[in-house]
Amino acid sequence: MKTEETQACLQQAPSATPFGSEHGAAGGEVCAGCESPIADRFLLRVNERSWHETCVKCAVCMSALSGTCYCRDRLLYCKHDYEK
Ligand SMILES: [Zn+2]
Ligand SMILES: [Zn+2]
Repeated sequence: MKTEETQACLQQAPSATPFGSEHGAAGGEVCAGCESPIADRFLLRVNERSWHETCVKCAVCMSALSGTCYCRDRLLYCKHDYEK
């Protein structure tokens, strides 16, 4: 029985962010993975937080997560490690 938060939740924001900043870092978006400002054109919104594309990876095997990720305790897992 899985009652904890389980989200398959990977969304790519379009290049036009709500902040409309072309100058980076001005929007105040900080990566939930590395805690650095996100200046990239596009970031990923996972679990209501923002991530660099390169920071969205499994906390166990460090493989890049594309398409689907699983969140638990604010960490991201691939399907394989999440189900362990
Ligand atoms: Zn990052
Ligand atoms: Zn993994």
